[in-house]
Order: sequence, then C-alpha cells, then structure tokens
Amino acid sequence: MKNEKYPRGVRESLFPASLFAIYFGVLLLMSGIHSGLIVFINTAALNGLIQTLVPIAYWCLVAVGLTLFTRNEIKKTYEGPLHKMAEATSRVAGGDFSVYVPTIHTQDRWDYLDVMIVDFNKMVEELGSIETLKTDFISNVSHEMKTPIAIIKNYAELLRMESLTEEQKEEYARNIEAAAVRLSNLISNILKLNKLENQRITPEVEAYDVCRQVCDCIIQYENAWEEKEIGLETDMEDSALVEADESLLELVWNNLISNAVKFTPPGGTITVKQFSQEDTVTVSVSDTGCGMDAESMKHIFDKFYQADTSHSREGNGLGLALVKRVLELLDGDIRVESEPGKGSTFSVTLPAAGTVKQEED
Ligand code: ADP
Repeated sequence: MKNEKYPRGVRESLFPASLFAIYFGVLLLMSGIHSGLIVFINTAALNGLIQTLVPIAYWCLVAVGLTLFTRNEIKKTYEGPLHKMAEATSRVAGGDFSVYVPTIHTQDRWDYLDVMIVDFNKMVEELGSIETLKTDFISNVSHEMKTPIAIIKNYAELLRMESLTEEQKEEYARNIEAAAVRLSNLISNILKLNKLENQRITPEVEAYDVCRQVCDCIIQYENAWEEKEIGLETDMEDSALVEADESLLELVWNNLISNAVKFTPPGGTITVKQFSQEDTVTVSVSDTGCGMDAESMKHIFDKFYQADTSHSREGNGLGLALVKRVLELLDGDIRVESEPGKGSTFSVTLPAAGTVKQEED
C-alpha cells in the first residue's frame, strides 16, 4: 500500500538493499580464502591445536570486519542524523530558537529523515516567531501602560500643592480620570482580544437587524462628531438581517465609527453606507480624514500598531486587531481603501440572513 505521509519522490526506507550483495560477495570470498587456508594448514602439516585455532582466528577477524562495516553503516545512516537532531532538540528545549539542522541529502535525494529535519526546522521557526510575538506583546503592553501611569503619578503629585486654584485642581483631576479611563480601556481590550484569540468566546449567532445596530452606534458618538463639527451622512436600507453575534459586532461598529471621528479633522464628513446582496450585507464607514499610505495599511490590523502618532494618546492600537478577529469568527470580511490626506473607507461584509429592501437616503 502506498504511504502518502511523505512528499512524492522521498525514500521511505533507509535499508540498503545492496547490503545483501555486499554480504554475499564478502562471505563467498571469505569462504574461498577459508578453503585455501585449510589446504595450506593440511599441506604444512601443522600441529592439531594450530589447525583448530587458525580457522577460528580467521573467522573471528571476518566477524569483526563485518561488525565494523555494519556499525559504520548504521552510524552513517541513522545515528549521525539522530544525534544531530537530539542535540538540536535539547537546544530548542533550552529556549534557543535559532537552531537549524541541515538536511542530509540534496532535495532530489531526500529520504524520510530529511523530511523530518525539514519539518523540525519549520517547527522551530514557528516556535521562534510565537516567542517573538509574546515578547513584543509584553513590551507593547508595558509601554502602553507606562504613559497613563506616569500621567496619573505626575498629576497626583501636582494636586498636593497648596497654591492650586480650583480650575487647576479640576484640570488635574480630569487628566487623572482620562489616564485611568485609558488604562481601563487598554486592559479591557487586551482581555477581549485574549478571549477572542483563545476561542473562549463562542459567538452566539442569530439573525438580527444590523441597520438598527449601526444607527444606535452612530448616535452614541453624536456628541463627539458634533463637537468637531463633522457632518454625518447615511445611505442605508430600512433594515437588513445578518446572521451574526450582536454583541461582538457592536465592537466592530464602535471601533470603525470612533476611528472615523478621531481621524477626521473638524469640518470633515463621515459617510455610513449599507447595502445588501444575495448572500451578504455590506456596511462601509468612510471619512474625509488623514487617510493612510500603503505601508501603514499593511499593518493596521496588527496589535498595538498606530500609524498616525498624533492621535496615539486617544487609542492603543488594539481596536482594529479586535475588529479583524471578530470578523474572522463570524465569517465576515473587512476591506480598507485609503489615500493619505483624502480619507479612508472601511467596508465590512457579513453573511445575510435575509433582507427587507426599501431604499432610503
Ligand atoms: P487606535 O486605538 O490607535 O485607533 P486601531 O487599531 O483602531 O488603533 O487603529 C490602528 C491604526 O490604524 C490607527 O492608529 C491609525 O493610524 C490607523 N487608522 C485606523 N482607522 C483610521 C481612519 N479612519 N483614518 C486614518 N487612519 C486610521
């Protein structure tokens, strides 16, 4: 039966069939020599003890020779590579992920040990990148926490000064409160992301009207956009049923709308559009804000990534990472179009549960 565990062309057994021919040839030759030896002993009329000992010593030598040859073959074929693997495994167990074991043969002559070595190298590389991600994550979290903690500490110290006016006290207390809110948002985002990434949240998928939900989210940010004198335009159906988890999707709309308000300068416009297709419902949030270049767009879904540092204090770079993870869980999709200085459009597509169409501007 064909074993499909290995890629095509890979040798699945290291047993050298030629070994039989080698042993057969050697034993044939050795028994020839043995016969010659016996003839020589008989014609030389050596004494009985020597006549017995010489063939024993001869076959002993032959056995030693064959054992050394076999040992060398086993060492070359199995022990050498396995010892290298054992050494590499113990280095990885000790936390060294820079280990690389070269394959024994060139790719056209790979056997299953070469495949094992290649897989091992791949596994070590994966482990290394997970370790880097973990270290990066910890240093990012520490960095993000340091700033608000420093703000709280400094303003708390200032508040102790006796000569403060009421306005100053009020301002310092407000700064402390804002830093505390920032810390609390950071921690709750990390916890949410952690739960989502470890699949500890099972989406409760049901059919519900996404238009109502998006409108509710927009209204929540009314004060923020009105304060910046941002115009808001909508182009949505009366209702559109999606098959999704309502509370998880709320995170998506909140993030997209709050980002649009945050990155749009005063006097700008935010447009929320929604349309239904046969099996999907799409909601897009566009703004006339600062936009992003192609390089930034590649990273916006990475944890802690903030392309526009001028607003870095208003966020923690986890929002879009959360959005992406939620949409992965709900079989949704997100696309981004953006141009520096002109604005951005984030379009979210979700599986539809059925739509009630009634166009409205
Ligand atoms: P943040 O907490 O910084 O908003 P996000 O994960 O929500 O973090 O976004 C990551 C980065 O993507 C932001 O820091 C910003 O640089 C960029 N970004 C997100 N939304 C927009 C937008 N509407 N316009 C311009 N840049 C955006």
